[in-house]
Amino acid sequence: LAACGGGGGAAETTGGAAQTEGGSGGDGKAGKVGISMPTKSSERWVSDGANMVKEFEKLGYQTDLQYAEDVVENQVSQIENMITKGVKVLVVAAVDGESLTDALDKANAAGIKVIAYDRLIKKSEHVAYYATFDNFKVGVQQASYIEKKLGLKEGKGPFNIELFAGSPDDNNAYFFFDGAMSILKPYIDSGKLVVRSKQTEMKQVATLRWDGAAAQARMDNLLSANYATEKVDAVLSPYDGISIGILSSLKGVGYGSGSKPLPVITGQDAELASVKSIIAGEQTQTVFKDTRELAKKAVAMADAVLKGKEAEVNDTKTYNNGVKVVPSFLLEPVSVDVTNYEQVLVGSGYYTKDQLAK
Ligand code: BGC
Repeated sequence: LAACGGGGGAAETTGGAAQTEGGSGGDGKAGKVGISMPTKSSERWVSDGANMVKEFEKLGYQTDLQYAEDVVENQVSQIENMITKGVKVLVVAAVDGESLTDALDKANAAGIKVIAYDRLIKKSEHVAYYATFDNFKVGVQQASYIEKKLGLKEGKGPFNIELFAGSPDDNNAYFFFDGAMSILKPYIDSGKLVVRSKQTEMKQVATLRWDGAAAQARMDNLLSANYATEKVDAVLSPYDGISIGILSSLKGVGYGSGSKPLPVITGQDAELASVKSIIAGEQTQTVFKDTRELAKKAVAMADAVLKGKEAEVNDTKTYNNGVKVVPSFLLEPVSVDVTNYEQVLVGSGYYTKDQLAK
């Protein structure tokens, strides 16, 4: 298989193992590493896992790749299993960032170091490093896109907006939302942006486990309760799977046809369905986070700790997990819309032109 980008095909590179178990490969001489990912229901994590397997194998490691299907208990037992099987290091993207304290205690007792992948693991001193993106900036990019599309800086408005955030058990969700609100709040305060539902607090707008169906149901309620006569002009959505749910809801009540254009709607991850939706003029924007680069960073961190070296970091103050500030490497997210998707996504080889065709 060629590209290890966001394409669904990347899943197959994990090597013929059963649904819940992947990994393997390498000549294994360097030992086995454990990779614990949250879910296969979103493409990005499938790519993340496949990309890490590839990078670890290049360095001669064997891999044990597991997906928890968004169930905390699955993830805990998968990690415990990896510890029992004697992996040398763990790379973990948490389902719930606050539920791994005991599992990490066990890893530590077995002398296994842990790298937090994309999502911060909280409430544990045993997190050696954190590889992620500039999560605050992701939110800034989403909100700045709305600001620009609506012409808010030029004084246009007022416009109606509704807000969605990610999972309350994912530390990233707060960074995305805070980043977005750093741009949107002044307009909400001045009345240039109106949130008809009045739901502007994280706890009101969060979406447990980033569930697109839950977001769709919430959007249905928002529309019927607040938009009988009014029209939504923008929706802050933190993740492509949520954006797709919101779009279904909007289309269900006639947006996207006749005199009701679809609102500006953001996203994240540049998942295939959303990039196609952007090309089709439905979703407006997404944030591309190159999982190939993130995988490389995390693997380099894991390799460094195994060799008793220091890993490269570029942030040592942002990510306090409640016990310590975890040394981090933050990669740059890129805002993508119909004007630059070809250059950014096809140009970098993340997707082929064919994958994006209908
Ligand atoms: C990741 C996002 C992703 C979301 C849902 C977050 O932790 O940073 O890229 O959209 O989880 O999977």
